[in-house]
This record gives sequence, C-alpha cells and structure tokens, in this order.
Amino acid sequence: MARYTQPSCKRCRRYGEKLFLKGDKCNTKKCPFEQKPKVPGMHGQTGRRPPKITDYGMHLHEKQKAKFYYGVMETQFKGYYNESARQRKIPTGDRLVQLLELRLDNVVYRLGLATSRAHARQIVLHRKVRINGKYCNIPSYSVTPGEKITFVTSLKDNVFVKEALSKTNTVGEWLAFDADKIEAEILSLPDKTQVQVPFNEQFVVEFYSK
Ligand code: ZN
Repeated sequence: MARYTQPSCKRCRRYGEKLFLKGDKCNTKKCPFEQKPKVPGMHGQTGRRPPKITDYGMHLHEKQKAKFYYGVMETQFKGYYNESARQRKIPTGDRLVQLLELRLDNVVYRLGLATSRAHARQIVLHRKVRINGKYCNIPSYSVTPGEKITFVTSLKDNVFVKEALSKTNTVGEWLAFDADKIEAEILSLPDKTQVQVPFNEQFVVEFYSK
C-alpha cells in the first residue's frame, strides 16, 4: 500500500550514484546528482573531510539502497530477508535478490514496459496486468515460472509505455517477451548471473544477521 513520496533524486545524492528511480530522467540534467553530487541535507559534507562511515553505516547504506531501488518499505523488505534466511537451498543474498526480482512490478519494469519501477507499479495498480488470464493489481505479487503475463491492449497506446518500449531493452533470460502482442512468460527463477543490481546483497544479509 505505502510507497515512498520523498524526492527520488535525493536518493541518488544520498547513495552517491544514480539509482534511476525516475527512469531515464536521471540521465539528464534534471537529476540533482549532476549539479550537487554531495550528500543532501544542511550538513551534507560541509567540512573539509568527507564524513567517516562506520561499518554499521556501510551495511545500512547497502540495505537502504536495495530498499529504495525496488521501492519496498522496511517491514516488507525485512520479510523478504526472513524468507531468504529460512531456506538453505541457495545463499541467502542470492535468494533475497531473487525474491525482489520476482515481484510483479519489477517484472513489468524488466520487460521494458515502464520507464521506472514506480511507473511499473502504477501499471499494475491500474489493473492493466493479467496473470494466466486473471487480473492482478498487487505490485508485490510474486510470479512463478510458467505463468503467462498479459496486458490490456490499450496499454500500448499509453505515451509513457510507448516511450519505454521505444528503447532498446534486453529482457533477462528468465523472461520471454513478445513486444507486438505485449505478452510475457516467466521461464525460470532469475539466477544471480542474470540480474544486475546496484547494491551488495551480502552487506544487506549481514546487516540483518548481526
Ligand atoms: Zn537521479
């Protein structure tokens, strides 16, 4: 239900890199990170020395980055960690990334239909997505291999979707996507090698397991 409403590009400045929370807008001068790469806030790097980062701070940094990247709130994010820590099949960090990737809003984003994850979330919330023929408007819905994802046909007329589709986009090997029919299928669970994330998942795991 809840989502972050603070300025997205403040996050770019806070974490010292572009997180593309507003999509390609981060690649333009609109991203304040371009103009003011310092940490936001009145006391963000005011002194001559950059602020000291403690071990705890480093771990917190990665956890927060991951949370904002996927647009997940703390309680739910910790839930993903707990679920990954409970299983023993694959390393906890790998499973954590896998669970986050399997979110329906993320899948819509990965298919290249949305300009950002926030946009993907809106597509889901506005009942544009069907899973195996049934409407699903839950952004956190966890997809499973074999499921077919279809979209309402009018979605293709949306200017932002058009914009997103016009970009050359490589869909992960775990997804199959037909851009003409706007249909997708989940082929397998995403493997660590198939997903690029801007955070260190090992640090996230250590943050919670300490
Ligand atoms: Zn930005």
